[in-house]
Amino acid sequence: MSEVRLRFPPSPTGYLHIGGARTAIYNWLYAKKHNGKLVLRIEDTDAERSTQESIDGIIDGLTWLGITWDEGPYFQTEFAADHAAAAKKMLDSGHAYKCFCTVEELEAKREAAQAAKLDFKYDKTCRNLSAADVAAKEAAGIPFVIRFKVPEQEGAVVFEDAVYGRIERRYRDIEDFVIVRSNGKPLYLLCNVVDDIRDRISHIVRGQDGLANTPRQILIYQALGAKLPIFAHMPLTLDLQKRKISKRSHGEIVAVQYYREIGFLPWGLINFLVLLGWSSGDDREFFSEAELLEAFSLDGISRSNSIFNYKKDDPKFITDPKALSINGHYLQTIPIEELAGLVKPFLQKANIWNDAYEADRRAWFLQTLGLIRERYYTLVDFTTLGRAYFADDFEIEERAIDKNITKNPQLAEWLPLLADRLAALADYNRETVEQAARALAEELGVKPGILINGARTVTTGCLAGPGMFEVLETLGRERVTDRLRNVAKLFA
Ligand code: GLU
Repeated sequence: MSEVRLRFPPSPTGYLHIGGARTAIYNWLYAKKHNGKLVLRIEDTDAERSTQESIDGIIDGLTWLGITWDEGPYFQTEFAADHAAAAKKMLDSGHAYKCFCTVEELEAKREAAQAAKLDFKYDKTCRNLSAADVAAKEAAGIPFVIRFKVPEQEGAVVFEDAVYGRIERRYRDIEDFVIVRSNGKPLYLLCNVVDDIRDRISHIVRGQDGLANTPRQILIYQALGAKLPIFAHMPLTLDLQKRKISKRSHGEIVAVQYYREIGFLPWGLINFLVLLGWSSGDDREFFSEAELLEAFSLDGISRSNSIFNYKKDDPKFITDPKALSINGHYLQTIPIEELAGLVKPFLQKANIWNDAYEADRRAWFLQTLGLIRERYYTLVDFTTLGRAYFADDFEIEERAIDKNITKNPQLAEWLPLLADRLAALADYNRETVEQAARALAEELGVKPGILINGARTVTTGCLAGPGMFEVLETLGRERVTDRLRNVAKLFA
């Protein structure tokens, strides 16, 4: 059996977006599962639109995701000699020809076809020029493009797409397409095939938008006498309005970098993206890498477009809720030491990191993360919803004040009273705190919940959170009593 070799060939014209990342993930999984190789090829032939920044961003994004490749990065521009040699080979073998028609001539023909409501296809004026005619035109310095000679007999390009099944395109519907421009530059369509042949790619897994190129590319494979790879085209990802997800219309929400910044775990994003267009056949939602390698197959790729749940106009909406719930699952279940390493840079960025969290306050730090992560979905949540655990300058949610404080103005006295009781405890821990709070509530003749919710609001800034006595224990006596006494400022 020949080697399984896949490729990820991004065009470096922008950031790595989630559609590109999904393509990379599918190729990576397939290669890994079949002990194959993944080639990273930067398709930088479009000199005007390719940038170094984009190349760096793509490599950075893949590295962050943990997608590894076995060969490359290769750069398409370094293989110009191969592309030219392939064009020459097709000219020499009679699979291609030089076309001297001018842009103006072609334009006039296109307009005439349009006026007659006909589809315009190149009329093959130069297909059968004699060798002498060609030589004369070249000698006269007339510029030419190179066109592929599509077979004229009845018949079709037929192939079996691993996702979409049998696909057929009649020869007569394919124009004699250009493979080299008049400035000598080969077209992308050609470079892509030549590189795939040289890189001995056995499986091409790419977006459904590539399907339009495939019949022409197959003709090039055949003309070059190369073995065809297996093609698998993946469904598109659309938004709720059925628009294709793109950098242009969706902005940063489709950039891998965005997910990194809002605190996704790489595996959380991979697990979400893999399910955009693939399913294991059962309803499983979470996969470890080993489980995914076991379950992944091209058969599981769906033919119907996947939906990225995108609500542009809601400022609270940071991404598809499904992505958040998957990420939350990992964030809430990974080993706490691992979580600590991931949270650290976010706390640092928010200026609330303390080196003691890696020294004498390590145990407290890990315990706190374990306590608060229950309801968090991104690493940023530790610095926003969780800020009160790491800093004293946190905001108190407006709705928590309305619900838990303003309705009971007497809390202005009760909470400082609770602080006094806690300050007086011989031993400060969740049990003693609970006893003190309940005893005080009884003395005052109020429901304990009123004191507890009030305490939650002023000590954590949040309306909801983990069990309150554990919270008060974790925050520590000093912070808790200070914050309880500070309640007065909410009534000022
Ligand atoms: N460079 C192309 C892109 O980024 C890849 C097309 C292919 O996979 O053949 O869309």
